[in-house]
Amino acid sequence: MKVAIVGAGAAGCFCAIELGRRLPSASIDIFESGRKPLAKVAVTGGGRCNLTNSFEGISSLNEAYPRGDKLMRKVFSTFDYKDTWDWFVNEGVELVLQEDRCVFPASQDAMQIVNLLTLRMKHLGVKVHTGRRIESVKPLLDEYEAVVVTTGGCPGKEGYGMFEGLDLELVPPVPSLFTFNIPSDPVRELMGTVVENVTASLAGTRYKASGPLLITHWGMSGPAILKLSSYAARHLAETGYDATLLVNWAGGNDHDSIKSELLSIAANNPMKMISNYHPEYLPSRLWSYLLSKVKVREEARWAEVGPKGMNRLAEVLANDAYHIKGQSRFKEEFVTCGGVSLNSINNKTLECKKHPGLYFAGEILDVDAITGGFNLQAAWSTGYLAAVSIAQKA
Ligand SMILES: Cc1cc2nc3c(=O)[nH]c(=O)nc-3n(C[C@H](O)[C@H](O)[C@H](O)COP(=O)(O)OP(=O)(O)OC[C@H]3O[C@@H](n4cnc5c(N)ncnc54)[C@H](O)[C@@H]3O)c2cc1C
Repeated sequence: MKVAIVGAGAAGCFCAIELGRRLPSASIDIFESGRKPLAKVAVTGGGRCNLTNSFEGISSLNEAYPRGDKLMRKVFSTFDYKDTWDWFVNEGVELVLQEDRCVFPASQDAMQIVNLLTLRMKHLGVKVHTGRRIESVKPLLDEYEAVVVTTGGCPGKEGYGMFEGLDLELVPPVPSLFTFNIPSDPVRELMGTVVENVTASLAGTRYKASGPLLITHWGMSGPAILKLSSYAARHLAETGYDATLLVNWAGGNDHDSIKSELLSIAANNPMKMISNYHPEYLPSRLWSYLLSKVKVREEARWAEVGPKGMNRLAEVLANDAYHIKGQSRFKEEFVTCGGVSLNSINNKTLECKKHPGLYFAGEILDVDAITGGFNLQAAWSTGYLAAVSIAQKA
């Protein structure tokens, strides 16, 4: 059997290895436009490779996969994060599970993963053709019995040119996992300030995410913002990245419960200066900024804050509004929302419904995740399933 894989990234190489093991007599060609296979894996997780996640704390898969959760549920029945853990451990890679549930090689070196996968492909006789950009998938379908497209994320529609003549349903690509620009807002003077547990949402939408928030010199970043950018990736693209961000600095508590807390601080500390005594989850600089934002004097004593002042304070802690205008990349770590529509593929096999023998795996599919190892997990799992499906048909 002759198999072509287009793209030697995480999904393509993993697929090639599994296929090589299941069909030792198969001839596997993997075409890579870059000079080396797995170039992106080499820079994942800041060069440490966050290769999966324990999924603890994920109560529903759409929390991790805003696009493609249903497909991933199916795919995980063949190969999930536990299988990923076992796979790498069986290959001799010691893994560590961090407190934040992210999994890394104990070596903290992504090159260990790159070298391992490259070596396994070599041992299995997979032919890796680097510097070979595939411009059109169609001719490959005549030459090979199975073709797996694993070309990864794609910043522009032009990356889909290789599908010409296949009449595929494609979901327009937009970026996911970015930070928010908040131009000319004095909050940026607080750059470097971190609040451990905020809830960030977009006004007038259902999009909401919780976690740490980092104020930067261009706006806001940190896990809560990256997660929100993922959940609202398409919505924000449609608005031209012009939206109102609401920050709840009190971990999602509502106006009334925040007000009760402020009233109890005031009752217990009537003579303390308001700038010196505040809810403990707020850094002092941010508290001072919020006081001036709602026009409560920093030198006032708690007993002097009247009902209107209390209301304004509770409101700014519950729904502090900022005007987002534009987005920025986070350490160049972004993924694509969009790709080959999941309607085009059989979700049990990843085979294209219109073109038997054509498979898709990895980020080229309209599947993407929040940060934390979930994107690579999708690449390993879909790459694996494509290999299983091809081997079963052989
Ligand atoms: C800087 C950065 C850090 C990241 N860190 C993490 C992390 O720690 N954990 C995590 O889970 N996710 C991370 N991600 C996301 C993750 O890397 C991707 O989701 C994952 O690599 C997707 O795998 P893939 O095989 O689908 O695509 P890729 O790994 O992108 O591989 C696709 C390959 O196809 C090749 N290609 C493209 N077009 C063609 C063509 N026409 N012909 C031939 N070859 C082609 C490309 O050159 C590329 O090598 C990170 C992303 C970035 C950008």
